[in-house]
Amino acid sequence: MKFETLAIHAGQEADPNNGAVMTPVYLTSTYKQDGIGKPRQGYEYSRTLNPTRKALQDCLAELESGQWGLCFASGMAATDTVLRLLSQGDHVVAGHDVYGGTFRLFDKILRRFGLDFTFADTTDPENLAEALTPSTRIVWLETPTNPLLAVSDIRAVAEVVKHHPSKPILVVDNTFATPYLQRPLEMGADLVVHSMTKYLGGHSDVVGGAIVGKDKELGEKLAYLQNAIGGVQGPMDSFLVLRGIKTLPIRMDRHAQNAEKIVAFLEKQKNVKRLIHPFHESHPQVQVAKRQMKNGGGMISFIMQGGREAAIRVAESTKLFTLAESLGGVESLIEVPAAMTHLSTQGSPLEVDPGLVRLSVGLENADDLIADLEQALK
Ligand SMILES: *Cc1c(COP(=O)(O)O)cnc(C)c1O
Repeated sequence: MKFETLAIHAGQEADPNNGAVMTPVYLTSTYKQDGIGKPRQGYEYSRTLNPTRKALQDCLAELESGQWGLCFASGMAATDTVLRLLSQGDHVVAGHDVYGGTFRLFDKILRRFGLDFTFADTTDPENLAEALTPSTRIVWLETPTNPLLAVSDIRAVAEVVKHHPSKPILVVDNTFATPYLQRPLEMGADLVVHSMTKYLGGHSDVVGGAIVGKDKELGEKLAYLQNAIGGVQGPMDSFLVLRGIKTLPIRMDRHAQNAEKIVAFLEKQKNVKRLIHPFHESHPQVQVAKRQMKNGGGMISFIMQGGREAAIRVAESTKLFTLAESLGGVESLIEVPAAMTHLSTQGSPLEVDPGLVRLSVGLENADDLIADLEQALK
């Protein structure tokens, strides 16, 4: 079946007990057993598995062309669980402008446990190849990145990773694109990670994360870690994401249409020094983006001519674009990454331009959004 159909039905069936069409929110921590060692349908304890979470996990597996999915309390809980595959002394290569929270986890926390990290420019597969060592176990790719919207060629990176003697696994953080725009597992990635807090949830009312993959053995290892560590998603939150995903395709199409109109407006503004959108002809990887993504998505970044002061001024002057962290909801948001989401990268090689403004373009009328940006830029 096609993506739009799977978004509504995958992993979900009418409840066998009463026919409820929507997956019930199973608010239960434990399950009656028919005898010792005889749990019903495999459910024993909700950290291990819960029917609402299972419906979402199975839905995501199908949407990402995977074989299995695992859901977590947040994107960071999912990311941390993937890293627990590693042991002291192992090495990870990650993109040099990964999400600020991912950088913080890798650089500030996991280094203390004896893991080693190299941050490289993954938009150039040659450069990535040079960063790999005999101890590299994971290559962590984000595309498009947050907040610079840099695009890496997933197929080209997968080629480099597959042929390296240390046989690392390739993980793609697919939060910005969602499986509607790009499916990394079809392009050679081993695992996909999501912050479901963003476009998958889509309504800024839930925090969640996911890991999806194909390989059975890797799936079993990660399910073991999910249960052992316990950063699982609760049933109510799983329900909210399941509900959000049903409209993912139409939301992503409209996010992208609105973003295109705003890009056309911003490129004419004199106080905008640089405009960044994956499908704009000025984007350095526009060809790769058009090859691997269905549309350009709803995120736009731009650098203000007047630097930090001007960026803060604009972000504090919009009325419809809400000044807030996060992204991917129905409502439009604006932020200044250097002073907000990416503060943790300050003073590091990953530091972002202080004049950078990031927009998460929502589903309001595009003319209203443009009028708001026009008055703020003035
Ligand atoms: C938000 C985000 C995360 C972290 O997810 P949480 O749900 O906030 O823990 C990871 N990667 C990207 C690209 C993100 O935007």
